[in-house]
Amino acid sequence: AKESGRNSISFYLPSMQESADRRLTLEKEMRVALQERQFLLHYQPQVNEQHKVISAEALIRWQHPTKGMVSPAEFIPLAEDTQLILPIGAWVLQEACRQIKAWDLQGIKLDHVAVNVSSRQFRQSDFVQQVKQVLLDTDIQAKRLVIELTEGCVIEDIEDTIEKMQALQAMGIRISIDDFGIGYSSLSYLKSLPLSQLKIDQSFVKQIDNVNAAVIVETIIMMAKSLGLNVIAEGVETLEQVNFLTAKGCLNFQGYYFSRPVPADEIKFTL
Ligand code: C2E
Ligand code: CA
Ligand code: CA
Ligand code: CA
Repeated sequence: AKESGRNSISFYLPSMQESADRRLTLEKEMRVALQERQFLLHYQPQVNEQHKVISAEALIRWQHPTKGMVSPAEFIPLAEDTQLILPIGAWVLQEACRQIKAWDLQGIKLDHVAVNVSSRQFRQSDFVQQVKQVLLDTDIQAKRLVIELTEGCVIEDIEDTIEKMQALQAMGIRISIDDFGIGYSSLSYLKSLPLSQLKIDQSFVKQIDNVNAAVIVETIIMMAKSLGLNVIAEGVETLEQVNFLTAKGCLNFQGYYFSRPVPADEIKFTL
């Protein structure tokens, strides 16, 4: 039995070793990237009912010296597995707030910028204090910042979530639930949370011509309304999607139909 066990292990060893090596390399490279300032933020416009840009979501990019632009889908999960998401997340918050200020000084007044916060980052005991400090350092008002948390993060430790959300809300920060609808979790917690927005996951928007997805989208919109929450759809790529969502009462949009994520100085404020 021991023999065969060893055989089966050695059979899988090369690929596991390979991916472990790859992860280790990537982890080392991320540390360098932080020091060498290889990370940057792109911004994706969010539009209102009149299709006017009123806000933007900050999305991290990694300008790797040899690999070119690395997608966050590739490095954020690994950063989350290590502690690296903490300094990366702190940098994102600081940089997004700095950009709000820079736009303000240029006379470009966005209502807010939405920033993605990972679960591990949000769970830090001093997270609220960190946010407060960034706002002070960058001299921007709390209402200019929206924090996007996933449903998974929210329900992972609901008591801690409520406590932090209440503190953030008291400061004036708004919270949006990202990728809403894919968590399959009990939705009963929603009314006990100080939320301001639900963000319909792009997977539903993509399949909006499918009856099941359309029903889910309609349900999310109705739920948001009955809770008094703003609702935004992400991953909006076509006019048909815009029209369907508008007809159902979702009046805020983000997606390639309006704009891809772009560097801060390339945002077109009138589309
Ligand atoms: P997300 O927060 O759900 O961000 C939306 C993703 O959808 C972005 O991918 C965006 O570029 C993409 N997207 C927007 N509109 C469309 C569209 O019309 N069609 C399609 N096909 N895609 C669209 P991106 O920038 O690659 O980011 C992927 C994920 O990485 C994000 O998903 C988020 O979970 C994570 N991420 C990005 N930046 C940060 C960050 O600063 N901090 C943390 N913790 N996570 C981040
Ligand atoms: Ca997001
Ligand atoms: Ca999302
Ligand atoms: Ca997502």
